Amino acid sequence: MKSTNRIALLLGLAFLLPALFFSIYEISSLNKDEKMIQQIYEKQLDAILFSVNQYSDDILTRWISDIESNQEELSSGGKRSDKINNLLSYNPSLTQFFICDTIDQKVKLNFFSLDTSNVNLQSQIQKALTQNKNQIQQLIEYKNSGFQKVQALAYQWPDQLQCLVFITGNENQSKMVGLLINSENFIQDLVGPRLQVIARDQFVLSAFKKGITTPVYSTLQADTVSLINQALTKDLWVLPDYLLGIRTSGLSLQKIIDERTYTNLTLLILLDLILIIAVVLVFRNVKKEVQLAQNKADFVSNVSHEIRTPLALISMFAETLEMGRVKTEEKKSEYYSIISKEAHRLSGIVNKILNFSQTEANKKVLNIRSVQVSKEIKEVLLTYDFHLKNKGYEYSFTEDLTLFVEADKDAFVEVFINLLDNAIKYSSNNKRIEINTGRENDWGFISVKDQGIGISKINQKHIFDKFYRVPSGDLAKTSGTGIGLSLVKQLMESQKGKISVESELGKGSRFIIYFKLSTNF
Ligand code: ADP
Repeated sequence: MKSTNRIALLLGLAFLLPALFFSIYEISSLNKDEKMIQQIYEKQLDAILFSVNQYSDDILTRWISDIESNQEELSSGGKRSDKINNLLSYNPSLTQFFICDTIDQKVKLNFFSLDTSNVNLQSQIQKALTQNKNQIQQLIEYKNSGFQKVQALAYQWPDQLQCLVFITGNENQSKMVGLLINSENFIQDLVGPRLQVIARDQFVLSAFKKGITTPVYSTLQADTVSLINQALTKDLWVLPDYLLGIRTSGLSLQKIIDERTYTNLTLLILLDLILIIAVVLVFRNVKKEVQLAQNKADFVSNVSHEIRTPLALISMFAETLEMGRVKTEEKKSEYYSIISKEAHRLSGIVNKILNFSQTEANKKVLNIRSVQVSKEIKEVLLTYDFHLKNKGYEYSFTEDLTLFVEADKDAFVEVFINLLDNAIKYSSNNKRIEINTGRENDWGFISVKDQGIGISKINQKHIFDKFYRVPSGDLAKTSGTGIGLSLVKQLMESQKGKISVESELGKGSRFIIYFKLSTNF
């Protein structure tokens, strides 16, 4: 496996896979958590409504005990005690109550009320009792077995009236007591304050009449939120026609949960995205470093190869001369020229490497001033002329004596020679090299164009990288170190210039260097 693929796999396994598992786990546990919160919340609401019901029950129990403690005198039609008077006067929702024998419901009902003008409900109560005969019988049985139950009589009462009955006394002398209650007064006067205490700022508690959506009472003033929008509703035990509703006073729990889920999900996705970006960046950097390390290794072997050839030639011809085997002067001078040429080549390579390392370390001091482009190019071409013509190259250059650019003279020559060297090196059969100069906005440019092997689009991105050499094809056979174009790029940048390339595989390349036009010449 290629080392970069291995790194990608490792990064994926080490970071992305755990992140993926974590995200899936988190998303699924988010739902679970939310369900749990919902359940806990509902239980809590349930407990609150339960306590309200318990409270209402306690009120009734107190009333019952007040009545029971005076039951004898009440049944005998005697004078009403203060306790009963207090009971009725402090609880206006208890409009009146009656006592009768349970054996025969037709017997006279003894009514007790503060207000004598109270409507006489005798006939209605008689009807309700007859309708609820079975239930009353059951209440008697409950009572006989020791359990006193209070039950609302199912009947169409006028206004907001409700009649709750319970059995009192012992088995032989049992009586039935009926409490006539104004439901809404009961809720508003007695249950309401309790709801307020419980609600505080956190909840809104309301009471609804069954079948009607707007509340008859709510802890929130002018509350119009309907029954269906309550988080939880429960029957009001003492008044079966009514329901209790509860909801949070701010956002509803569902909304809070939704918002929380949304925030958590967004954060999770964001975290994953950051991780993916980080992994991609790490991978790209690592890939670059791996590539650089590979290029460096290639560079060492390329340099060794580049140095070995001239060294071998020098030592071979020097030895031959030393041994005095060369007889003619003509041959001797040919060998000397080979030795000098190879030594020249050698020093060229060494200089290039030194130059490169100096530029790399920013140690090269440039002296930027006005340089006449044509003059410098012509000088280089003059030294290359013999070599070029000898190797069958054709070249063209049109001078422009007016073109001056801001450059360091040595660096300018170095850059141009590198481009010319490459044009020579990478020309195949078509050995034509065109050198052009020109102006573009406030730039002066020099282009070196060959009809050589060209560079593919993908490789064009890398040719200016340190130690990079196009890895396949004929190029691999050509000698080189891979530092030429990187050096050119660095030199151009330190001269505030730039370089670009136009190339097509198999057709040739054109390298263009831009310098700032000189204004003071
Ligand atoms: P090298 O010592 O290999 O020539 P360079 O840095 O000068 O190093 O060039 C980098 C790579 O760019 C070369 O290996 C070659 O593949 C490609 N290259 C440079 N100039 C040309 C050109 N004129 N035509 C085709 N390929 C080129």
